[in-house]
Amino acid sequence: MTFTELALIEPLLRALDVLGYHTPTPVQAQAIPAVLAGRDLMAAAQTGTGKTAGFALPLLQRLAAETTPVGPQSVRVLVLVPTRELAEQVFSSFCDYGHFLPLKYAVAYGGVGIGPQITQLRRGVDVLVATPGRLLDLLWKNALRFDEVQTLVLDEADRMLDLGFARELDQVFAALTRRRQTLLFSATFSDAIRALSVKLLHSPERIEV
Ligand code: AMP
Repeated sequence: MTFTELALIEPLLRALDVLGYHTPTPVQAQAIPAVLAGRDLMAAAQTGTGKTAGFALPLLQRLAAETTPVGPQSVRVLVLVPTRELAEQVFSSFCDYGHFLPLKYAVAYGGVGIGPQITQLRRGVDVLVATPGRLLDLLWKNALRFDEVQTLVLDEADRMLDLGFARELDQVFAALTRRRQTLLFSATFSDAIRALSVKLLHSPERIEV
């Protein structure tokens, strides 16, 4: 199996070549076709499995097919993560994989000034990687609009619940009214994660690696 066989577009293949990725990992081989097809996903995948490229590559490909620019203060792909370290890591993965695409990426988390984050969102971004608390702060300050969100990714969902983000997550879901694609990644599948998946996912593709 190659990335070409997964029908990825040339700018993504070029980026993978630069990074020296030659073969898709098992989670990538399963997730990429499902996400490209617009399906919801429930994936049991730990860090180190290549899960980030598993969702970032197909989402970038879908964004590259958009014919209109994202609107002011809007976001098309929203990735929620539990910690600022993971936020930086996932953001830099999107920047690397999407290096040859004319898309805009941003990252937002708490513990640092909100001003620069508000500024970078002003003209809209294709991908925003954020921790839940800061995301809500930005929403409440009217720095962000959710009406163009077409995909929601929950990365390390179990850790988000462990860190006490259940309430924040519920507030985010309540603000996301539009029909959208949802991808849920979690290392473990507790009752709470299962309940979340029942609430959020529509006939998801299930992946276990
Ligand atoms: P992740 O599980 O998303 O945190 O990725 C783990 C590590 O594997 C990261 O350092 C990636 O850069 C790397 N990686 C992901 N996919 C591939 C691949 N297909 N070939 C080689 N390295 C990869």
